[in-house]
Amino acid sequence: MNYSSTFIPTLREVPADAVIASHRLMFRAGMIRKLANGLFAYLPLGLRSFRKVEQIAREEMDAIGALEIKPTVVLPGEIWKESGRWDAMGEGMLRARNRLDNDFVISPTAEEAFTAIVRDELSSYRQLPLVLYQINTKYRDEIRPRYGVMRGREFVMKDAYSYNAGDESLDESYQAMGRAYRKIFKRCGLSVIPVKADSGAMGGSGSEEFMVESEIGDNTLILCRGTGSTNCDYAANVEKAGCAPDSAAQPSLEAAKAAAADTPPYEKIDTPNVTTIDELCAFLSATPQRFIKTLIYRAVNVELDLSAAPGCKGLERKKPADGAKGGVEMYGEAFFAVAIRGDLDVNEAKLAALVKAGEVSLAADADVVRLTGAPVGFAGPVGLAGLPLIVDHTVTGMNDAVTGALAKDLHYRHVAYGRDFSGWMTGDLRTVRSGDRCSLCGGELYEKKGNELGHIFKLGYKYTRSMNVSYLDENGKATIPTMGSYGIGIDRALASVIEEHHDEAGIVWPASVAPYHVIIVPIKYEGDVKAASDRLAAELEKAGLEVLLDDRNERPGVKFNDADLIGIPWRVVVGGKGLSQPKAQVEIKHRSEKENRLVELETAAVELAQKVRDEIAALNS
Ligand code: ATP
Ligand code: MG
Repeated sequence: MNYSSTFIPTLREVPADAVIASHRLMFRAGMIRKLANGLFAYLPLGLRSFRKVEQIAREEMDAIGALEIKPTVVLPGEIWKESGRWDAMGEGMLRARNRLDNDFVISPTAEEAFTAIVRDELSSYRQLPLVLYQINTKYRDEIRPRYGVMRGREFVMKDAYSYNAGDESLDESYQAMGRAYRKIFKRCGLSVIPVKADSGAMGGSGSEEFMVESEIGDNTLILCRGTGSTNCDYAANVEKAGCAPDSAAQPSLEAAKAAAADTPPYEKIDTPNVTTIDELCAFLSATPQRFIKTLIYRAVNVELDLSAAPGCKGLERKKPADGAKGGVEMYGEAFFAVAIRGDLDVNEAKLAALVKAGEVSLAADADVVRLTGAPVGFAGPVGLAGLPLIVDHTVTGMNDAVTGALAKDLHYRHVAYGRDFSGWMTGDLRTVRSGDRCSLCGGELYEKKGNELGHIFKLGYKYTRSMNVSYLDENGKATIPTMGSYGIGIDRALASVIEEHHDEAGIVWPASVAPYHVIIVPIKYEGDVKAASDRLAAELEKAGLEVLLDDRNERPGVKFNDADLIGIPWRVVVGGKGLSQPKAQVEIKHRSEKENRLVELETAAVELAQKVRDEIAALNS
């Protein structure tokens, strides 16, 4: 391809809103242009790399037997109402109405669409497992689209869905996807950190996120330094990360009572106008580790059985009227108190998992007052009867603590777990932070920021049940299949490649996703130089390489800068002294190297073809 025949509008300036390297470079290299906030058009150069990432994802899906289909992007609203997500998805989902007043959804994801297709065709266990995928447009009405295509509103996702007869089969599909994902990212030249995304509390390995390290990452990853002598690969999203309990924590209730024997009986202390932990610390000149913080949470769609829980007598567990959520019985709303050590934060994702809730959030002030009988800021575990109390593991080892006393301007001191109160439930609810200890090896945990590139997830029966999918098993019995969902953002993967592979001058493409493998830069595109350049381009193309020939009438410096900016792996300079040698020579240079090397024009194509093949093979291995 001749440079002058394509459309690569490179820029020297950077758009003001482009704060990360990939966003800047995709603009400057003429890969993308912005149509509106969160909406980007790929220009020819960008699209070439985009298609390569897509193709790598496609090949690895095909390699594990997943079958590509192409559903529509505009989806009927009915299927979203069946699954219950018409309501649950909220404003992030773009809806539309046609002239007949029918509801539609612009696909933000496609569990419903795939499940609707499978439902109509599935009859026998012999058809399972069935793994289908698409590489298709998604739209999410992100509140704050940013960082270019890294978080756009419209983007392309490779999304796959597996339908399996039973957990064992689901696990096989899930594991195969996990392996395919590792290959996809490696082939793109991406270093990913796979992190466990399901909570330890739920047990099992039902969800894994593939993260890339990034200063602007939206996720906090908790990683382990190991123990010096051993490496540890513990990695989890902070939303779900666990850690080793403090050594003193989690004694049995008996042991806790015994340990409390030396603690004086608890007593009231006046704490006028003191409502926060900080104020309390100052007032009592103590550290927050001495306090038990009691927080009231509101949970919705709770599946956990609360029939014997304090304050829950009147609650009724019902199947949702619209048959959503797979028709599982649940409490529409329930409240919980959580007691945790004063210096720590409750992890809402862990709490939601523990009580099997759709969502949890801090209760409104009015609810706190109603349930605790005290003003906000004075909740405490002793004598709390209006709602179930969940005690974090960090509190089960405390035996001389300060707590709220369920009355204005009053606290208790010398409070001991096991003696003065116990929980309706205990659990690990704390948000892990740097310096905590790894539950696998005892090593020190640390934090990194990361971006999610892909996610594999065992969904179970959520959609197949609510959307009434079934097949006949070996015994002719109608059975519901279980399901997995697996997604990779193509745009985000592409941007992440640039994040990982660039320097001050521009992009440094891995050969596998480079828009072209070789750029030929004739010093001046005329006469002998033109003839030699054309010949080399033809030879390279014959050898299977993708070639960009910079035929523009520009100074060499300008061409070199553009070549560096757009990041083509190999640059060949034709012209000057090299050509007039007895055996004509050209200069070759890899984008990552500083120095040129002279090679014979005659053998240049063969040598470059081998180099590119070798690099791609190494990425593929
Ligand atoms: P995030 O937490 O970053 O919003 P998510 O958890 O909502 O992502 P999934 O629903 O798991 O994302 O979608 C699968 C993949 O789609 C993500 O791993 C990511 O690569 C990509 N993706 C999701 N949202 C966007 C977006 N707004 N722009 C670009 N890619 C996206
Ligand atoms: Mg996700």
